[in-house]
Parts: sequence; structure tokens; C-alpha cells
Amino acid sequence: MRLAIVGGGPAGLMAAETARAAGIEVDVFEAKGSVGRKFLIAGKGGLNLTHSESFDAFVRRYSSRQSEVERWLRAFGPDELRAWARGLGVETFIGSSGRVFPADLKAAPLLRGWVRRLREQGVRFHVQHRCLGFAGDGALRFQSPEGEIAVRADATILALGGGSWPELGSDGEWTSWLGKEPIAIAPLLPSNCGFDIDWSEHFASRFAGAPIKPVVISWCDGDGGMQAQQGECVATAAGIEGSLVYALSAKLRDAIAANGSAEILLDLAPGRSLERLRKELGKPRAGRSLSEHLRRQAGLEGVKTGLVFECVPKEAREDPARLASWIKALPLRLLRPRPIAEAISSAGGVRFDALDERMMLIVKPGVFCAGEMIDWEAPTGGYLLTACFASGRLAAQGAVAWLQEE
Ligand SMILES: Cc1cc2nc3c(=O)[nH]c(=O)nc-3n(C[C@H](O)[C@H](O)[C@H](O)COP(=O)(O)OP(=O)(O)OC[C@H]3O[C@@H](n4cnc5c(N)ncnc54)[C@H](O)[C@@H]3O)c2cc1C
Repeated sequence: MRLAIVGGGPAGLMAAETARAAGIEVDVFEAKGSVGRKFLIAGKGGLNLTHSESFDAFVRRYSSRQSEVERWLRAFGPDELRAWARGLGVETFIGSSGRVFPADLKAAPLLRGWVRRLREQGVRFHVQHRCLGFAGDGALRFQSPEGEIAVRADATILALGGGSWPELGSDGEWTSWLGKEPIAIAPLLPSNCGFDIDWSEHFASRFAGAPIKPVVISWCDGDGGMQAQQGECVATAAGIEGSLVYALSAKLRDAIAANGSAEILLDLAPGRSLERLRKELGKPRAGRSLSEHLRRQAGLEGVKTGLVFECVPKEAREDPARLASWIKALPLRLLRPRPIAEAISSAGGVRFDALDERMMLIVKPGVFCAGEMIDWEAPTGGYLLTACFASGRLAAQGAVAWLQEE
């Protein structure tokens, strides 16, 4: 029995390992010249494999898709992932934020060891094979170095990734051919992304790349209540990005889609109460510039001072009480998310109601899906990779069971 896996990211490779362990012949087809390119890039800033928080807290990160993803993670969750890495000789550790990393923080040794083990186990790799969809008789069509070829398999797992960082291989092109089938696919959208802001030329040229930290971002949730979260973000030439913005990006993206734009409020002085700030800014300036006054009395410097000049009207800057209120709640209007190509991950993809509980496409028996190409999203923090691994494993178990039945 032969299983074709299309896409050599974490989801596809985990599917290959699981199916091969069950004695199935496995061929992995990958569009690029090597597998796992996005996984390798994920390791650039320290590969965040998973998170050490409680299982209940962990599954809540998948928000509206919690119940579906929780099912995947019950079978293969953060602990199993860490044990799996250990099996490849890669110990993990818990960082101060609770995030879990390989001991050397890198993805390359893990990927190298994994691919070597897969080859030894008999998994066959076919790189530079770009899937073009299904032929009329159900065979898979590939653009290969030898031209277009057709591959017949007894079952197929699609693990084609989302649409972010397309230069790494997952370019979302699959939506054009899979979307021709009667399969519900939600449009791919940027997730864990930055946003555009209409900065002045002056601000953009001076402060692009400057970290804004610490800062609290508040925003109005769908029910009209205010939510607030502290962290770090970065001013860019086009707007704003960084971990705190990514964490809120799904809600902000959806708010922009619903209302045309979204407003966030920055607290530039999270360590100082409004009362204290008013008092401190009310002290005599004694001829000092406003920048110097802000530095001495409010601890604001660099980009934070730049934001005050960018956003606070001139009259309010001269009134300590009003200035303090602006510093504690500086409004920024987010115009649109940055393009999906720049996002860390994407939302949207094959909808859960197009899949059965084994991850098989209901209208295409024998074809399974796994990974980021399915319609779920999660913040950064290891939640993306953990769910990709778990779904790859589940899809392979589903495919093995289906093959055995057939
Ligand atoms: C900069 C960056 C940093 C990240 N850091 C982290 C992190 O620290 N922690 C975390 O949890 N997540 C992180 N992620 C996200 C994580 O890497 C992805 O969610 C994960 O790789 C998705 O796995 P996947 O197997 O579903 O898809 P992918 O890894 O995207 O793999 C899909 C594969 O399918 C191939 N493919 C696509 N179309 C075709 C086709 N038509 N034919 C053949 N092959 C095809 C692609 O070339 C690709 O190799 C990061 C992402 C980025 C961009």
C-alpha cells in the first residue's frame, strides 16, 4: 500500500513518520529543493517548539477552533512533542516565558536528524515536485525536473502549508486547484502579522525599526469591553509589528474587516499611574524642551517621544494633565493588516466541515489534510508547530486505518 504525502513541512514529515511506522510505503513530494524550509526559518530566532503552560490554557490559544484542535492535541500534545524531540537526541528547555525550545535553540540539527531517520526507515523523498492538482482519473499531477508526471497512490495526505513567506514553498497556490473541487476553503488571511498606520514621513523615516517597550495595548473587544495586554512591539516604516501586535492580530484583523479600520490605545508609561504622570509632568519645565521634560519626568525617550509628537495635538502637549492622559492612552488607527507574504502564519484554509474526524476530505475519499492548510490559527508561542505535528500524526493514522479498511 502506497501513501503519497504532498508537502515536506512539519505536518507532512510527521505524517510520513507515523504512516511508515505502521508499515505503509511512503513517498513525500516537495515543491522546493529540500524539505522543511519554513521550519528552518522558524529556528532562526530560536525555534519555539511548544509551550509549557497547562493543557487547558494551551488549547484555549486556538480560540474559535479550540474544540477541533484539542482533539488533535489530546493524542499528541506538548509533552509528547518534547518526548519526540528527545527521541531524536534533542533535549528541550522551558524559557522564562514558559515557551519551550530545543537546548541549542536551533531547528537545523533537529530537521537533519529527523530526515536522516525517515530515510533510514524507508521514506522516499521527491524534491522539486510541485503538485498541480488531481488528474481526471484521480492521479496526482506534479511538475518535476522531468516535466509533468502523474503519480498514482492508494491514499494521499496534503500538507501544503498556509500562505505566509511564500518564498519558502508554502505559497497557498493549492487553493487554486483544490478550490475547484466541491471543498469548502476559507480564504487565506494574514495571521501573526503587522498592520499599516498612516505615519507622517518624518516619523516613519526616523523611527522605523525602533522597539516600543514596555507598552500596554488596549483595544475594544467585540462585546464592547476593553482588553489590555503588556508586551513589546516595533514601529515600522509602514506601521507597527512585533510580538504584542502578533498576539492581538487575529482580533484586530477581524475588526478591520468588519469596520474598515481598528483603533488601539498605547500606554507608553505602563509603570506610572495617570495621577503620578500628571503630577510629574506638571513640574516646572524651567526652559527645558518638551522632549527633555518627557525624559526626566515620564521616562519617555526615542520612539515613545516620537509618538507623542506624532499623535498628540500641539495644544494638548502644553497642558500637563491632558498630555498625561494622551501618554496613558495614545490612539493609533490601524488601516489594514500587512500582506500575507510578510505574516508569520496564515488563517483560513480547508474548513473543518470539509473533513471527517480522520482528517479525510469528505468529497475525496482517500485524500487527507494536515497542518497550517486547515482553517485554524493560533498566536506565536509554539502553538503553530505543535498543532501541525499533531494534525500530521492524526491524518496519517486516519490514512492508515482507511487503507487497511480498503
Ligand atoms: C519566520 C517564521 C517563524 C516561525 N516561528 C515559529 C515558531 O517559533 N514556533 C511555531 O510554532 N511556529 C513558527 N512558525 C510557523 C510554523 O513554521 C508553521 O506554522 C509550520 O511550518 C507549518 O507547517 P506545515 O507543515 O503545515 O506547512 P509548511 O511548513 O509551510 O510546509 C508545507 C510544505 O509544502 C510544500 N508545498 C506547498 N505547496 C506545494 C505543492 N503544490 N506541491 C508540493 N509541495 C508543496 C512547501 O514547499 C512546504 O515545504 C514560524 C513561521 C515563520 C514564517
